[in-house]
Amino acid sequence: MNNEPLVVLDSVSKFYGDVIAANDVSMNIAQGEFLVLLGPSGSGKTTILSMMGGFTIPSKGKISIAGEDVTDMSPAFRPTVTVFQDYALFPHMSVLDNVAFGLLMRKVSKQDRIKRAEESLDKVGLTGFGKRGIHQLSGGQRQRVALARAIAVEPAVLLLDEPLGALDLKIRHQMQEELVHLQQNLNATFVHVTHDQEEAMSIADNIALINHGGIEDYGPPERIYLRPATLFTAKFMGESNIISAEISGQDDDLVKLSTKFGEIALPGAGESGAERSVVLRPEQIKIGTHDASERLIALGECKVSEIIFQGTHKVLYAQGGQGMDTHIQLRAAPDFAVVVGDMLEIYAEASDAVLLTH
Ligand code: ADP
Ligand code: MG
Repeated sequence: MNNEPLVVLDSVSKFYGDVIAANDVSMNIAQGEFLVLLGPSGSGKTTILSMMGGFTIPSKGKISIAGEDVTDMSPAFRPTVTVFQDYALFPHMSVLDNVAFGLLMRKVSKQDRIKRAEESLDKVGLTGFGKRGIHQLSGGQRQRVALARAIAVEPAVLLLDEPLGALDLKIRHQMQEELVHLQQNLNATFVHVTHDQEEAMSIADNIALINHGGIEDYGPPERIYLRPATLFTAKFMGESNIISAEISGQDDDLVKLSTKFGEIALPGAGESGAERSVVLRPEQIKIGTHDASERLIALGECKVSEIIFQGTHKVLYAQGGQGMDTHIQLRAAPDFAVVVGDMLEIYAEASDAVLLTH
């Protein structure tokens, strides 16, 4: 076998008049990878997916799949199938006929169509549903039919545009797990679009975070969440505390930063006077008394202003830093005794802090 990526986007852009829907996007997707395109509404996710599927032709750049240039190739000739958010099922056809439709288009014999459609229904947990009408199905079941129809033609790449967006939370979580199992069992390549960072983190091998049509950050969920490359990533991937800092000096490999929480030293380098941000997740802020050291950042005292009990933990909002006017969000154990107005001393591990330029 070879190690060539299955899908290659090479400096792909899409312009609609003045609107830059995709901006110089380059990425490699490996065979068997579960890639999630994540980003806010209007960031260009659908445009990028749709260029992979052939429904949108790039203004610039090149797309190849399995070594073949498909930039201008129509969807039907590509080794891709797209599952749209609205499922696009045929309401007048039975479940089985819907699932077999792509095979009919590919001129597969009737006997093979039925066999493969039934196998696909088995794979999505809809054994025996073939004779039903589409209107006799729940939202989650319709989603499964759309998936079964897509996998029946055994595409090299399955493209999914917010496929779980219409489902309620519990079914969405269940379908997230099932999608991952399906992708692993088929050893297929999935590209999945969502604006939900929790969904992205729970299903992706790699996340491409899309912002203004371009790739803001790209990597495995743990890296994207714990070591965001940019401030946009830090803010988009859940809650974070962002501490403004100014470089005040350098000490070997450590850069000294002056902040409202006192001086912080972190690995890095930069010009004195330059502005930086120090990012700490709420769960990385700890309660207790510690002196600052190479390993620990002492953040001083903060005053608790709001407490939200969430079962597994308490979310604490507090004010701290010089002047006691910086908002801090942290977490405590569910049984941690605290009331609004309490003063807490807080600190963090220096290795948890992420130092960002922009
Ligand atoms: P997302 O899927 O992330 O919400 P889209 O890819 O749908 O984003 O859209 C990206 C940008 O391109 C948006 O500003 C959108 O308005 C614009 N856009 C998308 N499709 C078209 C189109 N056919 N004509 C004009 N503008 C479009
Ligand atoms: Mg979209």
